[in-house]
Amino acid sequence: MPKHFRVFATCDIGEAIELLVKRGYEVEIYPQPEAPPKSLIVERVRSGIDGLITTLRDPIDAEIFEAGKGHLKVVAQYAVGFDNIDRVDANRYKIPFTHTADVLTEATAEFAFFILGALARKMWTAEHLTRENKWGYWHPYLPFLGDEVTGKTVAVIGTGRIGLAFIKKCVGFDMNVLCYDPAYQNHSFVKSIQEIFDLRHARGLVREKSTIKYVAFEDALRQADFVSVHVPLLKEDESDTPTYHLFNEETLRHMKRTAYLVNTSRGPVVEESALARALRENWIAGAALDVYEKEPLPPDSPLRDPAISDRCRLMPHFASAARITRLSADPEKGMAGRCVQGLMDVLEGNYGGDITKMPYVVNKEAFTK
Ligand code: NAD
Repeated sequence: MPKHFRVFATCDIGEAIELLVKRGYEVEIYPQPEAPPKSLIVERVRSGIDGLITTLRDPIDAEIFEAGKGHLKVVAQYAVGFDNIDRVDANRYKIPFTHTADVLTEATAEFAFFILGALARKMWTAEHLTRENKWGYWHPYLPFLGDEVTGKTVAVIGTGRIGLAFIKKCVGFDMNVLCYDPAYQNHSFVKSIQEIFDLRHARGLVREKSTIKYVAFEDALRQADFVSVHVPLLKEDESDTPTYHLFNEETLRHMKRTAYLVNTSRGPVVEESALARALRENWIAGAALDVYEKEPLPPDSPLRDPAISDRCRLMPHFASAARITRLSADPEKGMAGRCVQGLMDVLEGNYGGDITKMPYVVNKEAFTK
């Protein structure tokens, strides 16, 4: 049955929008690749829209919800992380917001693993050597060496969807896995992974048996050769175990001097000034980052210091940026499809109109009776 709902999308999310248009929705898309100014979002929301499609670039708070009073029914976020949306304000205005969990899990996890490998094996520096005609000889250790990944110990900080998917990638590299998560421990997953490690050893595929276990944060940092971060951004007032600046001078100093940090979660989880110092002063061996305290990365960021460029990989918030993951209109495969489905669920009253039963709604707590 065709529906006439008005939707504003703060950016183009591809052909999934057609699904809405075919159903009779009126959809306006912000045409520029950059994020719209907040004043423009407020103005479009005030114009009477029923649904708002957002990305992690858009600050969504009381000002937006106030502008939508009486007509805005849903905010559909095109991301799994939703730290740009003020959950307390959304709940106060009783506006459900949705996200696109799961469909980007494997893409993000594999990207984290790939940049870990690129960092440790110095692939960026090595390619520069070739391209810049500085590859003058084959030599046992000059001009530099990388570090092997196979058989090393990795600490996985945050064992939610992406953390667990990342662990599965590490299995193929016979890594020992130290898990840390103060809020959610999946012991049956850990048991399954240990069984796989045991089988690989029993069948003679590997000489050393790998292990996996949950440990305390400090133990994870002190023992790991690699630390990969998979937490949501949680500020002081949002959690008993906040993640804002979880990696700071004190915690970076717990890491081994030979260890590498990989962050594909959210930028403010790592205090960048402390990390830049850690790299300059060799407290740790290197870092690969996909996310930053301020995005895009400012021209004067200390992370751009040429003195640390051989051990600091910088990616443009790119971990979920794979074709099917980003654009598939199938809600089981793509962020676009899942975003649009979450929006339709609320506007069209799927699940008997019970918001607490809608799988992609995040703030269900505001709707429990
Ligand atoms: P999730 O909610 O399934 O997992 C997050 C886990 O972190 C949870 O198990 C939670 O208990 C744990 N956690 C919370 N506080 C912690 C703390 N102080 N220390 C350690 N663990 C803690 O979320 P997910 O789907 O795995 O996604 C994780 C995050 O990754 C998202 O919130 C998002 O910010 C980020 N992300 C980034 C990209 C990218 O493009 N770079 C893509 C997808 C997701």
